[in-house]
Amino acid sequence: MGTNFISDLRPGLCSNTICVRVSRLWEYRGKNHEDQIKHLDRVLIDEKGDSIYAEVPDDILSKFQPILNEGQIISIRRITVDRAKAIYRAVDNPLMIRLNQYTEIAEPKDPALDFPKYTFSLTPISELNQYIGNQGAFLVVIGKITAVSNAATLETSTGTIKLRRIIHLVDHNENMIELSLFGPRAQEFDGDTVYKVGRKSHVIAIFVGTSMKQYKGSPPFLSGTAACRWYVNENDVTEIRDIYKRLPIQAEPVKKLHLKNHEEIQRQIETKSLLELREINPFDHAGLKFECTAIIIQVAQNQYWCYPACTACGSRSIFDGGKYHCSKDGCTGTSIEHRYKVCLIASDTTWQLQFMLFQDRAMQLIGKSAEKLLTTYRKSDTPPEISALVGQKFTFIVRVLPEKKLIAHDPMFEVLNIKKIFGKQFQIPNVKIERKPASSTTSTSEEHNLPPLVPICPKAGENKLQDTHEKEHLSQRAKRSHS
Ligand SMILES: [Zn+2]
Repeated sequence: MGTNFISDLRPGLCSNTICVRVSRLWEYRGKNHEDQIKHLDRVLIDEKGDSIYAEVPDDILSKFQPILNEGQIISIRRITVDRAKAIYRAVDNPLMIRLNQYTEIAEPKDPALDFPKYTFSLTPISELNQYIGNQGAFLVVIGKITAVSNAATLETSTGTIKLRRIIHLVDHNENMIELSLFGPRAQEFDGDTVYKVGRKSHVIAIFVGTSMKQYKGSPPFLSGTAACRWYVNENDVTEIRDIYKRLPIQAEPVKKLHLKNHEEIQRQIETKSLLELREINPFDHAGLKFECTAIIIQVAQNQYWCYPACTACGSRSIFDGGKYHCSKDGCTGTSIEHRYKVCLIASDTTWQLQFMLFQDRAMQLIGKSAEKLLTTYRKSDTPPEISALVGQKFTFIVRVLPEKKLIAHDPMFEVLNIKKIFGKQFQIPNVKIERKPASSTTSTSEEHNLPPLVPICPKAGENKLQDTHEKEHLSQRAKRSHS
């Protein structure tokens, strides 16, 4: 029985002992942090400073959870070594460790005194944007904290409530990134102490286990969930000391940000009838949320109910030259999945408007993925699962959609949240939509009794055909304004 370093590990069963420190640990519970633990995750680091990710599967949780604590040095044997996961890799190592029922853990006799505690592979703040939507690896970011918020409740797009705290991090060139800590991490971060200490001295932090995210219509941000950990003003971290040395002696105080709780935001959401919503436009009301209650009267027929989305960033992908290309500037994604983009027409007896349901909202109502429906139906046919929404009444939280072509008479809305589901209604509201002719800016001369404009024809010559065509057109216009 020999002793190995992390760099000696090869895929397969490993009976040798490795001596490691549990550098950091977290529990993986999937999307919802209140779900059962799916596996325990550890980052192990050896004497040489090499690191590897280790997973404790859920069937042996109770055996290992109490004995694998953060910071502890252990000797471990009888493990399986596997290829690292394809997504959300915690450390830069092509392999990972899995513990099993035969795994043995002991306290090493005399571990080295200078056994490394941490392992970082830093990504500069200025380069973070290229990792938006990239699920390959978790990011490690260092910066000076310039602002910190309270932990406030947030209602997610699927209607669950979770905590969020915002932290602003800047580098030596004043590049700033906003970090959002979610769920238990938002609570665990000691914002009060950071604010207090930060009033007089610098606060430098390393955040590990983060990823870059971007929601439609808002700036990109760094997201810290279950795998996220931080090291704040730790004197024994070389990278923190290096930044500290370069900062001026006088520290600018850390700012306090105020995040509103979701109840407070909810109270500010105005309830509007569809006729009132009609007055909303993307220039004056971008990002504002409104509440409305309406019955679905129709699935819009002039468009597909799904679109090929880039799996890296969610933008539309365009099929060209035998493969898909992401339409977003700078994104090189070529793999796609079909996502929902369901356009519904709803009415509330005052007016009727179009409402767009994107991926998660549509999934919530339809109960199946777009990919699944595509195995049975074509893009050009409305699946009965979607038609079944007609006649149902909902309370939606919506915002106006900044469409590229604002040619429609009425604004179109995106459903952000489904607040209430009333079910099938027996009576479908019948609104008589009477559109007035286009408004003031194009008012005609007859309204003001102005004399008709004198048509000025292009000079005779070069293009005969166009010339006569335009003359005809202009004289027709003149005739119209006479009548
Ligand atoms: Zn993309």
